[in-house]
Amino acid sequence: MNIDKKQMMHWVQQIEKNSNANDHILEELIACKDQEVALYLYNIAAEARKKYYGRDVYVRGLIEISNYCKNDCYYCGIRRSNKQLKRYRLTLEEILKCCKDGYTLGFRTFVLQGGEDTFYSDEILCGLISSIKTAYSDCAVTLSLGEKSFDSYQAYFRAGADRYLLRHETANEEHYKKLHPDSMSFKKRKQCLWDLKKIGYQVGAGCMIGSPGQNTKNLVEDIRFLQKLKPSMIGVGPFLPHEDTPFHIYPKGDLTECLNMIALLRLLFPYVLLPSTTALGTLHPQGRELGIQAGANVVMPNLSPTSVRKLYALYDDKICTGEEAAECKDSLEKRIESVGYRVVTSRGDVYGFHKK
Ligand code: SAH
Repeated sequence: MNIDKKQMMHWVQQIEKNSNANDHILEELIACKDQEVALYLYNIAAEARKKYYGRDVYVRGLIEISNYCKNDCYYCGIRRSNKQLKRYRLTLEEILKCCKDGYTLGFRTFVLQGGEDTFYSDEILCGLISSIKTAYSDCAVTLSLGEKSFDSYQAYFRAGADRYLLRHETANEEHYKKLHPDSMSFKKRKQCLWDLKKIGYQVGAGCMIGSPGQNTKNLVEDIRFLQKLKPSMIGVGPFLPHEDTPFHIYPKGDLTECLNMIALLRLLFPYVLLPSTTALGTLHPQGRELGIQAGANVVMPNLSPTSVRKLYALYDDKICTGEEAAECKDSLEKRIESVGYRVVTSRGDVYGFHKK
């Protein structure tokens, strides 16, 4: 073994011990393409995760409530300017039916995700959240509906929402401007995350890996931002191009880089809830299993009605768009078990969380 490999493995041990590292070390490990070092990193990360969460993998039922969006992010397939896309919006009854089916299947967290659809007023959303919490009081409701005012976030929280996912997308302002039109604000996005924390949500931030214009330094900046924010959840997944966006010409994110990031995030944030994303499963047939083996501990099977699955197209070739919710969950469960982990159906709150 050459000295560089030994050095890198030593760094991995140090990160595991200190839950931190300097920028240079993080950059080297994020970009590391050596399979022996990478596998070592994943194994150490998997061990670290076992200390907090054992072999448990939490499931979240993802309900994609609408693909209308007022924003125009250059990477996203449901951006406002994509005129090719047929738009849909689920009714209250349809969403509640998804929850009902999901509950029967054992889901105890529902994630309501969508574009920034102005149709859903605060009143409608609060009504929806409290209907779900009344019907399924043992379930957590997670929202992933984009940027809102402090007061709106607070209203949803009071209506019973427990968690909020809002990826910061990038912690570098220049890079942010390459991914978003001028109408969107880097400061506002970050402010939203601080607001959500202040209100008391379990907050999820995160970013794409390999988004156009991103370099390894930016990923270290993402880590530094996350260290300040201290979120309960961190969602990362590869950038995947969508043919009807300005970014259709850019390549996919790199699998090894995604797995390296997952493993490093596990070592830096041992307590965190870290999903192995659908995007990772789209990038590689065993992507989600590999993510779990690199330290991820959450999967989010799709509970949306099959009739709309294909329309929630953030990127091309998204997997699981034809399966019923039950099939989707079963196949994921088998995949997780095949690599020695087990799917559990508890609420799966972040380590150390006390129920409100
Ligand atoms: N409107 C919500 C939900 C956005 S979709 C919000 O603003 O949070 C959820 C996530 O999908 C985004 O945060 C983004 O990081 C990711 N995403 C969007 N387009 C993508 C693409 N082309 N490839 C990979 N991930 C993408």
